[in-house]
Amino acid sequence: AEVSMETIVALCKRRGFIFQSSEIYGGFNGFFDYGPLGVELKKNIRDCWWNDMVRRRDDVVGLESSIIMHPKVWEASGHVAGFSDPLVDCKTSKQRFRADQLFFSPVVIDGKTVGYVSALESERTTEELQAAAESFKRKKALQGTLAPVTPKDFTEAREDEHALIPSPATGEPGSLTAPRAFNMMFQTNVGAMTDGSSVAYLRPETAQGMFVDFKNVVDTGRVKLPFGIAQIGKSFRNEITPRNFIFRSREFEQMEMEYFIHEDADWKKSHDEWIEWCRSWLLSIGLPESHLSLYTHPKEKLSFYSRGTVDIMFKYPFGVQELWGIAARGNYDLTQHANASGKPQEIFDEATKKKFVPHVIEPAVGTDRIFLATLCAGYAEEDVTDEKGNTEKRVVLRLSPRIAPVKVAVLPLLKNKEALTQRAQALYKKLQRRYAVFYDESGAIGKRYRRQDEIGTPWCVTIDFDTIEKPGDTFTLRERDSMTQKRITESDLFALLEEQVY
Ligand code: ATP
Repeated sequence: AEVSMETIVALCKRRGFIFQSSEIYGGFNGFFDYGPLGVELKKNIRDCWWNDMVRRRDDVVGLESSIIMHPKVWEASGHVAGFSDPLVDCKTSKQRFRADQLFFSPVVIDGKTVGYVSALESERTTEELQAAAESFKRKKALQGTLAPVTPKDFTEAREDEHALIPSPATGEPGSLTAPRAFNMMFQTNVGAMTDGSSVAYLRPETAQGMFVDFKNVVDTGRVKLPFGIAQIGKSFRNEITPRNFIFRSREFEQMEMEYFIHEDADWKKSHDEWIEWCRSWLLSIGLPESHLSLYTHPKEKLSFYSRGTVDIMFKYPFGVQELWGIAARGNYDLTQHANASGKPQEIFDEATKKKFVPHVIEPAVGTDRIFLATLCAGYAEEDVTDEKGNTEKRVVLRLSPRIAPVKVAVLPLLKNKEALTQRAQALYKKLQRRYAVFYDESGAIGKRYRRQDEIGTPWCVTIDFDTIEKPGDTFTLRERDSMTQKRITESDLFALLEEQVY
């Protein structure tokens, strides 16, 4: 069965994965805090990406640029002029919406348009729009046959249609302004001046750091084309309608890489290779293939400099949505910065003795979106039957061992048997030097297993009487997904972890 967002949000709060930001003050829309387990899961996702993308590749180097950069960076990149979403105000409810997330449908009775119903994208289905149209008809006491409902893009609505659409907030007919551009960059002031000269921006993407430091890396990094510069860090966007939990927030983390290639190189081939790399990386951290798909941006929707963009989509509970964008950006960014700064951003080609500006392939993904995807795909509720024949529900998070917040739970069978707890403590301390592990000695063993299932711990190790009484110093290894148990030695346990946690 498909998991609901309510279930995921409740689990995150209950087990300390994610809290609302500033919750004691009523929360702050579009901001989140990662709790004790969340911070581990997120760090693991980030570390896996960094290890695979940077450390285990010979052609990618890392970077950590500042969050606040010279304001000219954002003029040259085009963000000051163009990093905006179309905004509409509802004059009745005073709410604001992103026009391109707003759909409407004419209510047509016997061939005549008598009104409109509207919906936020992915919050209402066509059937629900149809039901809203029915209700509209009843409220207005209109007679006749309703035409089938087909949602229309609000950004393309006519001026008079804006005024007729019922407010999505109240369901009552409201009045929406025509869309206008709303720049999503957060502004701040740097230094003590309060006039325009001190205005700066929180970065809306990490990518510009790689372009602005391109020359520094080339001159110091012993890199040769093709090569990439990767960065992980916070980005900020003043999203008009942050929603779907951490999917669209105002402060989020990005993992981006700029892969520079020769101007004559086959960009399509490189683009395809990166799409495949990203897809198989997602599989390597446990996302199921069945939830992934590719979306190729249609040519007419691409920015003028873009060669092509393909998004890896993920099937979230609220719909199939963008997880990872892989864009072929030509040499637009470096050229923009060369022109704006007056500093050439070229590379010397030994073969042709010519200078040129490299082209770039950019895979850009949000850590938080991967985080959410792993929880949605991993969550399951199962009926399990114990030895006594009692059936109960268990919640299990099937997270890959690579990213699970706790790798092993160490459980002495009984709390008040010193021989058991001492052996358990010794193992726990040893494991702790390399892995995130958890020690739990309270409650029935079955209960302790369930607690670990719910937070995605792949293995539980129980120190029982066989451990201390029989030769071999073996433990019970209990596996999360199959719930099977077997005996294992300490060195085999370490070998298992070495193989599965990388
Ligand atoms: P969307 O169309 O969903 O707003 P985008 O196309 O603007 O996303 P990019 O600018 O390509 O996104 O950013 C790269 C990646 O950063 C996205 O694929 C996504 O994973 C992540 N991302 C972008 N905006 C947000 C946000 N507001 N909250 C969380 N992650 C985000």
